[in-house]
Amino acid sequence: MPTTPTVLQTEDLVNELQCYGARLVDPKAGAESRRGGAGPSDHKAVTIAGMTVMVPVHTAPAFESPYLIEKPDAAGNSQVLRDGLAIGDASFPLRPRFYDLCTADGVPYPQIAVLHGRDVLATTVLQTCIRYQSRTKACQFCAIGQSLAAGRTIERKTPAQLAEVAKAAVTLDGVKHMVMTTGTPPGRDRGAAILAESAAAVQAAVALPIQVQCEPPDDPAWYGRLRDAGVDTLGMHLEAVTEPVRRRIMPGKAQMPVALYFSAFEAAVPVFGRGQVSTYILAGLGDTAEDILAVCERLVAIGVYPFVVPFVPISGTPLESHPAPSSSFMHGILKPLARMLVESGLKSVDVKAGCAKCGACSALSSYELSTAREGVCA
Ligand code: SF4
Repeated sequence: MPTTPTVLQTEDLVNELQCYGARLVDPKAGAESRRGGAGPSDHKAVTIAGMTVMVPVHTAPAFESPYLIEKPDAAGNSQVLRDGLAIGDASFPLRPRFYDLCTADGVPYPQIAVLHGRDVLATTVLQTCIRYQSRTKACQFCAIGQSLAAGRTIERKTPAQLAEVAKAAVTLDGVKHMVMTTGTPPGRDRGAAILAESAAAVQAAVALPIQVQCEPPDDPAWYGRLRDAGVDTLGMHLEAVTEPVRRRIMPGKAQMPVALYFSAFEAAVPVFGRGQVSTYILAGLGDTAEDILAVCERLVAIGVYPFVVPFVPISGTPLESHPAPSSSFMHGILKPLARMLVESGLKSVDVKAGCAKCGACSALSSYELSTAREGVCA
């Protein structure tokens, strides 16, 4: 159940909104919401207390959420209400200007890359995945095929297209970093090759810190090749941390066990640096808080930033009716995790690019800030 609000701290309000979602008085407020695609989806960027966060607005829990975000006034300012009571200010990032352009070969820019959070350019370089071909192999939370089927994106973004859009997003909208993810193609590099050529093309066009995200490539030499192509940070995403949950939720991807991910992390950290390799962990899929915190402790010890986000049940996926985690479950993970991160000097603010730096899909960076304010720093 959502917490009964007295005065919520920013991190608690963000946590509540991300777990329970929100209803919008004006669904058209701000930039377009995200639907489908790789990674977390069905949410909208909202700025609360100066932090831009992704709030689920198209999910089943969001339709029942006790939180309501008012229509913004002419200056873009709005309020979050709960049971009719205003409990916080909110605003919406504006629609980016680069969305109005088309590439030299006629593709609308938002079909190539979109704005995430406040200042992140995000793209799925390859919108298909070997694991998405059959329901017996696909990750059950994933909607990578939905935006492609709906014509909101194209299957393969070329390096030239990505470079063109990145340059415009920096020039017109002040984008600060870029995330490139990919569906997993056939082949042992697991997407590293197309990410390397894409990053190199963007870096040749505009100076922009880049995170790439893929499954661990077979050959560790790919880490050096990615770095040499201009990649600043690397994400290799566990999603779930215990093998039974991994096999149930992501039967194809679970063929690569957690131990293999740890070998990959140990090879990648010396190449990219401490805190510049990260992993996404979806809380709420069956792993206990203790399971997640135990794995996070191992990750932090080897210099990997564990970006723990609440699972968002995306419409149209096999998990659309799976409950989102409660805010108290997330609080029980994020509070001690933030302390662990601050004490070990592995903070999101020091990450050069990507999801861990953006932080919009989790209240983790808000918890880090409040932990640092409480004086837990070593
Ligand atoms: S945390 Fe990652 S997936 Fe979430 S909005 Fe930011 S860049 Fe996008």
